[in-house]
Amino acid sequence: MAKLPMFREILGQSVKKPVTNLFPTIRMPKSITRFFRSVTEGKAEIVPPVATPPVFRGKIVYDRTACNGCGLCLKVCPTHAIEQVAYPPMTVTVTDEKGNVTEKLKTEKRIRIYIASCVFCGQCSDICTKGAVAMGNEFLLATEDRFAEEQIAE
Ligand code: SF4
Ligand code: SF4
Repeated sequence: MAKLPMFREILGQSVKKPVTNLFPTIRMPKSITRFFRSVTEGKAEIVPPVATPPVFRGKIVYDRTACNGCGLCLKVCPTHAIEQVAYPPMTVTVTDEKGNVTEKLKTEKRIRIYIASCVFCGQCSDICTKGAVAMGNEFLLATEDRFAEEQIAE
């Protein structure tokens, strides 16, 4: 007798529509090659195929011009996906009081985020007082190369 509700549930589920999103198959263009060619020619755009909510935590968006290199985000990142980098490496000429001229490497601290190591926890954007990191809405991030250009935000 106890199995009756289970059978009823199985029968009910078997005639219901799937509740899962059919992505990505339903969104696939007929020809991937033609689609990418259109993207290259500016005739098509790769966008998230479904709307994301405002609080969605997707690929990090980093604004280097707003960042002051304080390093707070590095400290809170649980996966060590962020490293501090010197930017931009430039050589400046320095003249001391005796007139000696030397060349020094002048840099400012900035960060580099390895998206493949990010778990999208949002800690970095929460702690950044400059608004230099934010959670974006991009989520099509599968790749074979974790160090590809689009996998690194800097
Ligand atoms: S992104 Fe924000 S928290 Fe991270 S180093 Fe830059 S200013 Fe500091
Ligand atoms: S969102 Fe990603 S980069 Fe930012 S703290 Fe979390 S794991 Fe690190």
